[in-house]
Amino acid sequence: MRGLIAGDHSFGPLDRAAYARDASLYEIDPVGAIAPQTEEDVALLVKYAAENRIPIHARGAGTDPGGGSVGPGLVVDFSRHMRRIISIGSDHIVAEPGVVLDHLNAELLPLGRRLEIDPGDSDVTTLGGLIAVDAAGTRSLRHGSTGDHVERLRTVCSDGEVREFGFEPWPAYDDEPSDFTSLVVRKLHNIYRRNLQRLTPGSSDPPRNRAGYAIEKASSPAGIDLSRLMSGSEGTLALVVRATMRTQAIPPSQQVVLLQFARLVDAAAIIGRCLKPEYSPSACDLFDWRSLSLAREFDPRLQQAILDGTESIVVLEFEGNDPDEVAGRARSLAHRMARSASLIADPILWHKRTDRDRLMNLRRLIEPGLMRNRSGARPVSFIDDSSIPFDRIADTIPRLQAVMTRHEVNWTMDAWAGEGRLRLRPFLDLSDPCDIAKLEPLASEVCDVVLAAGGTISSSAACGLVRTQLLQRQYGDMIQMFREIKDAFDPLNLLNPGKVVGGDPRGMTENLIRLSPSRRANSSGEYSTSKGSSSVGTVTRNETDFTPDSNPTLGSAVADETAPQSTSIILPVLRFADRSLEQQASACNGCGACRTQEPTMRMCPTYRALRQESASPRAQANLIRQIATGAIDPKLWGTEEFKAHSELCFHCKLCQSECPAGIDVSSLMLEAKAAYVEHHGLAPGDWIFSRIELWARLASRLPILSNFLLSRGVSRQLLERILGLSRHRVLPKVRRTPFTRRAAKLGLHRPRPHLPGPRVAYFVDVYANYYDQELAESVVEVLRRAEVNVYVPSRQRSSGMASLIVGDVDHARELALHNLRILGNAVRDGYTILCSEPTAALMLQQEYIKLTDDLDATLVAQNTMDIGHYLTGLDARGLLPQPTEPLGIRVGYHQPCHLRALNVGTPGLDLLRKIPEIRVEFIDRGCSGMGGTYGLARNRFRTSIRAGRGLLNRLRDPDIEIGATECGACRIQMEQGITKNTLHPIKLLSLGYGLNPTIRRGLREPKPRNSMS
Ligand SMILES: Cc1cc2nc3c(=O)[nH]c(=O)nc-3n(C[C@H](O)[C@H](O)[C@H](O)COP(=O)(O)OP(=O)(O)OC[C@H]3O[C@@H](n4cnc5c(N)ncnc54)[C@H](O)[C@@H]3O)c2cc1C
Ligand code: SF4
Ligand code: SF4
Repeated sequence: MRGLIAGDHSFGPLDRAAYARDASLYEIDPVGAIAPQTEEDVALLVKYAAENRIPIHARGAGTDPGGGSVGPGLVVDFSRHMRRIISIGSDHIVAEPGVVLDHLNAELLPLGRRLEIDPGDSDVTTLGGLIAVDAAGTRSLRHGSTGDHVERLRTVCSDGEVREFGFEPWPAYDDEPSDFTSLVVRKLHNIYRRNLQRLTPGSSDPPRNRAGYAIEKASSPAGIDLSRLMSGSEGTLALVVRATMRTQAIPPSQQVVLLQFARLVDAAAIIGRCLKPEYSPSACDLFDWRSLSLAREFDPRLQQAILDGTESIVVLEFEGNDPDEVAGRARSLAHRMARSASLIADPILWHKRTDRDRLMNLRRLIEPGLMRNRSGARPVSFIDDSSIPFDRIADTIPRLQAVMTRHEVNWTMDAWAGEGRLRLRPFLDLSDPCDIAKLEPLASEVCDVVLAAGGTISSSAACGLVRTQLLQRQYGDMIQMFREIKDAFDPLNLLNPGKVVGGDPRGMTENLIRLSPSRRANSSGEYSTSKGSSSVGTVTRNETDFTPDSNPTLGSAVADETAPQSTSIILPVLRFADRSLEQQASACNGCGACRTQEPTMRMCPTYRALRQESASPRAQANLIRQIATGAIDPKLWGTEEFKAHSELCFHCKLCQSECPAGIDVSSLMLEAKAAYVEHHGLAPGDWIFSRIELWARLASRLPILSNFLLSRGVSRQLLERILGLSRHRVLPKVRRTPFTRRAAKLGLHRPRPHLPGPRVAYFVDVYANYYDQELAESVVEVLRRAEVNVYVPSRQRSSGMASLIVGDVDHARELALHNLRILGNAVRDGYTILCSEPTAALMLQQEYIKLTDDLDATLVAQNTMDIGHYLTGLDARGLLPQPTEPLGIRVGYHQPCHLRALNVGTPGLDLLRKIPEIRVEFIDRGCSGMGGTYGLARNRFRTSIRAGRGLLNRLRDPDIEIGATECGACRIQMEQGITKNTLHPIKLLSLGYGLNPTIRRGLREPKPRNSMS
């Protein structure tokens, strides 16, 4: 196939593994995956598959919770290359299927238009996926679902031919079908005529039903819109390779009203009144108490607004062109509702945009709280797509509750209530056979309740692997009609078989993702596998079965229920404190949020640069889970091939804070790197990076010679060849004497607890110690200006991050133990450890405790701070003198990923803004792409530059004079190919105090251009 089809081919076991799952409960190893570049590639691929009878599974972002995109055949990944926007017209857009919805809407924004589809994962979901599942978001109440906005579709059919699909009139009686399309239309006409009565909409139908094929929406007495029929067909009728979509003007005015209730059923009962034509809300969402408690916890504004005792809220959005008219509708609804006895507080109108966005994005806000549950049970999506007439919600809730009670499970629910769409998610532990055994009965009984209420089991997500077998229950013999439609388009059953029709008769528990058996504490605190144990599920709301990491109160309720246990072939070299390695890896729910390209998010720099699924944190977490559970041949652990995958992670630690499930993918990948080192020893290039401190020390002995050699092209080429250090990298100049030695001469090397002032011990790390000594000097001087008692331990060594990220865990541990001996004593003497390098602070706070069980590791972790964070703390207490020297400079500030991972905000930025006459812009354009020493290597240089492109482009703009950031490696990257200087904020602060005049002199001096300029 490689000779036949351009694009990326994934056929090795580790490459295929990335495509074995999506956001569903299922996992199937495909025969291979191809990311085609053009529609011609897709056509060739389908022809090849047809000749060889290989099933085809189209794939976008893989965020469908129904398992639509997984299967044993050939996965066609449209998201990697086929994501071009072909044209933007005044009221429509033509684009390829892999384009991400938010990206499309960002292009439309300057025209004041958008695609009126707003699913919760709009930053990752693709146009092809949206069309294929006929997705519908919060505002679908007013704007309909994706299929309602499709104008025409260009497709590759099951015979490998490209065809345009739009409206086709029914054929005349004596028309002879002349081609594929006319033959299909004739067959569909027969089906239509035979089923006309069934296809007529009834008054008691659910407001949104997408189960089966949408023939009733696509057909009329005049003919059939094939593009409408394609919408919601889950890649089973044809592959979409280009779509023409209608766009809508963005209404300029919005209002949001919040209603609070003491009982969920009261909230549900009021929906009908909210939907009256005089109010016409564009969205009407309902949330249960569990969602609320998390929302309140994560957002102080909501904490203020939502009263204690509120069990449920309804959020209504109103949109329109005339602000007065929109406000009038919102106010009139609020007045009317204020008189209702079931509300426990007056309705609140939210006018400000930020407040409105907060409420409209409530689902995204609460998701991490639900997913970071450490007890193993998490909300599981398999009965989360039902829709019932909205006036039946109130009486259906008690019936659903009864089902959950019978099966002893906790559950959470939110609803797009205006359309009766209920997102029910029971809390289950899928590593527990008892919980797995509940899946089918729960699905079956919920299906009964929904159908009895006149509802549908599928309203906006694929039937996929999870719901297809239940369609028979919903449609009875009408299912035959769907089979005939499928047969008309795909007689060989090649396209996504088993979805929509022909579901797996073995039931929905076939092909579930493999998880290691869970371990739970019994009442005496001992750990046992849950096999055969009774369920922990309860139905009383006071029993906490979910535990957001960020919530100490809730966390303490179950903290003892989990313990790091390893049951797999992987014997971790790191200590996993709260979740074992397998638990970490298994916590990935496949949501695909880590594929985001959203500028306000950071994860994942390598995925952003490469856009290949295998680089996503999802693929990496799953790789570890699969190897741990034996889904992948364990012999691959520690191999060259596995190492190549693990090197896609450069330990930025962003997924840990940004992934809704809080998965520490970087630590999982460190295990893979360490396994390689254990099997093969350190690769020579990695050994060089691991010993970066040694090289710095040697270079500092002969600084003139070292700096001369590093500045010459010839020697850089030699270094590239021998050491693997990219010749394009311009490294900073090394200094003769390490700063720690110079500090000793000033008498700072001894702790002097008797001196006045708060005590700090400065952990300098390699960069400031050997290269940027002006930084180390500035740190000491600024601290002294604030009358802080500074101590610079002279025997301190590098933090060890450079060793850790290449998997040289032994050396990293050695450095950790060395530093802990010194720093532990300092803490016992009352010193706080300060780091000017965020990477060092991260090591001391988060990584040393994973490297060693030395008691001092915890002590040091608890007493280490980033310098900026420390100084802003002093400032808050009025102990930091205000800088008075004007700088008159325009600065672009970059927040390093490791600082972000410390979760301390942007203290450097806050300090910069205190300096007079300085204009600082926060360049929030993602990671710098450097990843410590990652971007220094020859083979990673280009990926590194690509990952930092957003930041570098902005820095090049003439309105920015210098850059600022805390991280030494980011500074190297920010000066790469740019003639502007980049400084640590503390250096600029020291200028604000009138200190360090030498720094001021060189501030605007252009740096020499280098080979990448
Ligand atoms: C956090 C989260 C929130 C969500 N919120 C919503 C929501 O509010 N509303 C909603 O409706 N859904 C929601 N979803 C589901 C998800 O948005 C939809 O299922 C989505 O449209 C899938 O898009 P995708 O690109 O990930 O497609 P995939 O998951 O990759 O594929 C989905 C289906 O489309 C088919 N397909 C993909 N590309 C093509 C193509 N080019 N041609 C033919 N078939 C194709 C696949 O075979 C599969 O059957 C959410 C999912 C998550 C994880
Ligand atoms: S790693 Fe996190 S963000 Fe990515 S798919 Fe898994 S749970 Fe979602
Ligand atoms: S640590 Fe960074 S590079 Fe590694 S997987 Fe997470 S986001 Fe990607």
